[in-house]
Amino acid sequence: MAQIIDGKALAAVVRSEVAAEVQKIQAQGGTVRFAAVLVGENPASQIYVRNKQRACEQVGIAFELHTLPATCRYDELADLIRQLSADKKINGVLLQLPVPVAVVGDRLSEILNLIDPRKDVDGLTVANLGLLVDGNVGLVPCTAQGVLYAIQSVCPDLTGKNVVMIGRSRIVGRPTSLLLTNHNATVTVCHSRTRNLAEHTRQADIVVVAAGCPKLLTADMVKKNAIIIDVGINRLPNGKLAGDTDFENVAKVATAITPVPGGIGPLTVAFMLKNIVVAYRQQNCL
Ligand code: NAD
Repeated sequence: MAQIIDGKALAAVVRSEVAAEVQKIQAQGGTVRFAAVLVGENPASQIYVRNKQRACEQVGIAFELHTLPATCRYDELADLIRQLSADKKINGVLLQLPVPVAVVGDRLSEILNLIDPRKDVDGLTVANLGLLVDGNVGLVPCTAQGVLYAIQSVCPDLTGKNVVMIGRSRIVGRPTSLLLTNHNATVTVCHSRTRNLAEHTRQADIVVVAAGCPKLLTADMVKKNAIIIDVGINRLPNGKLAGDTDFENVAKVATAITPVPGGIGPLTVAFMLKNIVVAYRQQNCL
């Protein structure tokens, strides 16, 4: 039976490091301030934003929530993002996704890129994604950092490991594949158009799955003693949360596996907090 990678416990370590950093900054008279932007009333987004608020408050980061109705115009959202990016008191800015299509249409990338890259704690601007291509010196997307941290908790050195990344989204799959490549893994990116997914996953020492499909990764697709990182968050018809793996059966084959909930989710929030402090330090040349 696989070791269960306890994302909550790992996240607690990261959060306590962040809290200590924030205390140091406060002792020097500084305030770390973060602004989240929420458009519309998507219930899941409201929960995510509330969790982020609670997490910020627990480590001493001042939190501001800016809301706009789902009926707002693109320009109103753009103005708000520009205003927060220009505000010297604010160190981190995050636009909660998804943004209603009625507001952004096909201009999501454009709106994300209005965030000052130095405040882009989600790491989703082209500037930060470009820095990741360059060797990970900017603000790195939080989920990608969470995935790396979870892997390193059971496998500190990724050098030469074969990784299959299932998913190629801007928010998870692509940045994670880049970050793991920067750590000397050999990464294969698979996606919805990949032929014979199982042929790829069966070769992998590590499988990271971020597809949003419950039970996509089954036990017969996994090499014995592989490490499985499940990023997926799916709400099942019975109301329960599940990831993208057939957890019970995959855990019989794997050497280590992250659960859902309690795996990558808490780590993602912890690394958002870390990015806010990194952003503060960079802005204040510390
Ligand atoms: P997305 O829909 O933007 O991307 C999904 C990716 O998976 C796409 O690249 C698609 O090609 C691929 N895919 C879909 N079905 C597939 C299949 N059958 N076979 C192979 N590839 C397939 O989603 P996203 O924003 O990247 O999120 C992915 C999942 O991760 C979702 O469940 C989301 O809720 C979750 N998520 C979790 C966290 C966290 O903190 N744990 C953070 C972000 C997203």
